[in-house]
Amino acid sequence: MRNSAVPCLCVMLVAAFFACDRAPAEPPDVLLITVDTLRADALHTYGFPQPSTPQMDALAARGALFENAIAASSRTVPSHASIMVSRWVRAHSVRSFNGSTRLEGHPTLAERFREAGYDTAAFVSNFVLQRRSGLDAGFELYDDALDASEAVRGGYLERSAAQTTARAVAWLAARAERPFFLWVHYQDPHGPYQPPEPFHESLDPVEVRVVRALPVLERDSGRAGIPRYQAVDAERRPAVYARRYAEEVAYTDAEIGKLVAAFEGTGAAERDRVILLTADHGESLGESGFFFQHGERTSPDQVHVPFLVLAPTVRPARFTERVHHIDVAPTLLALAGLPPLGDAQGESLVARIEGGKPAAERILFSESAREITAYRGDTYLQARPGRGALRSDPLAPEGVLRWIGSRREDDGRWLAALPDPALKAALEAHLAQRTPSAAAVELDRIDEESLRALGYVPEVPQAVPPH
Ligand SMILES: [Zn+2]
Repeated sequence: MRNSAVPCLCVMLVAAFFACDRAPAEPPDVLLITVDTLRADALHTYGFPQPSTPQMDALAARGALFENAIAASSRTVPSHASIMVSRWVRAHSVRSFNGSTRLEGHPTLAERFREAGYDTAAFVSNFVLQRRSGLDAGFELYDDALDASEAVRGGYLERSAAQTTARAVAWLAARAERPFFLWVHYQDPHGPYQPPEPFHESLDPVEVRVVRALPVLERDSGRAGIPRYQAVDAERRPAVYARRYAEEVAYTDAEIGKLVAAFEGTGAAERDRVILLTADHGESLGESGFFFQHGERTSPDQVHVPFLVLAPTVRPARFTERVHHIDVAPTLLALAGLPPLGDAQGESLVARIEGGKPAAERILFSESAREITAYRGDTYLQARPGRGALRSDPLAPEGVLRWIGSRREDDGRWLAALPDPALKAALEAHLAQRTPSAAAVELDRIDEESLRALGYVPEVPQAVPPH
């Protein structure tokens, strides 16, 4: 334990320097929970009619809840990259297609904690987050040992919430001397929806906008039908799938309760504890023409995510301004009294959640491979590739964009057929930013065939799965 003295001293000195008036006496233990495919309104506290998420609701009641948080992308890897480096998808090295490029070239949240003397560990549950993604940077332990396959898609490795919780709890049991940063990622709300007992058929029927029977598609896109990999027997009623989704969320919620209990029973008593919970993206339940899928669109159904922050200095409150994945790292570092990442594009929310200081209105962006959305206030503007768009970057500003007008979020109602000029200008300026690292890494794509030959990459179809 002697080795821990020097890093701890460093933490305290750094904390004192950067946050002198509010640095915690001891660096806090920090838990980041990301849930795959979790719509904000799948939580009771965000409006789901049934009390199916008591653990997350309890967390929300103890902390700051942001009602309008936007994911960086509707895909897993780019969103998690934005969480870890506090940069827009367009401004880091992970492109919008999972697995095509690694995260590198920017300091990460975990690296900053580790430099400050923290123990760092991650437990992930989706194969696209395995270490080849580059998301392992800064983690002393990166547990990506996934031993199960999705029921239908054999090469899609994953880990159940119960297993992930058990491994994270075992790691927590060995923490005592040094502060730690723990990231736990849960996969279960992601399709195929297979809620385990006793959650299977535990909820009342779930209301959905579309009630007609849907076709089962030949593909997994979810466009106007049930994705092939989600299909259960001959079931075509969307409400059945929506209920199964909600039951997967309920199961994950119960596991989050176990994880949080272990976290709050761990570590030195004098250290504070910080928790931030969010999701990498949402899930379409019939909005925007897609069912039980994500990854194509960046409309609210696919990118409106829960965002909860708990710390001793945070008073329970709900906030309506828009926040974003890029605010995660600045907020956690500020709560730990650590300096921000040098090239962060997000903002610390600490002044807002501790002191009620109103946040300035920002335009926030969410990007998938073939759509980008700019969110401002309660409206959003979208652009998609038009005819003649560049193949290498369908949303590049030098290509051709198709503007999808402005909409209001609460009901999707069109505000105007023509885009708001200010929002359009902001979106065009955003699209033009492409960091050297992003360009360089794209040129040096992972050679997946080589990795697969080494047995390192799961066998997956080249058609990009919307994870
Ligand atoms: Zn995901």
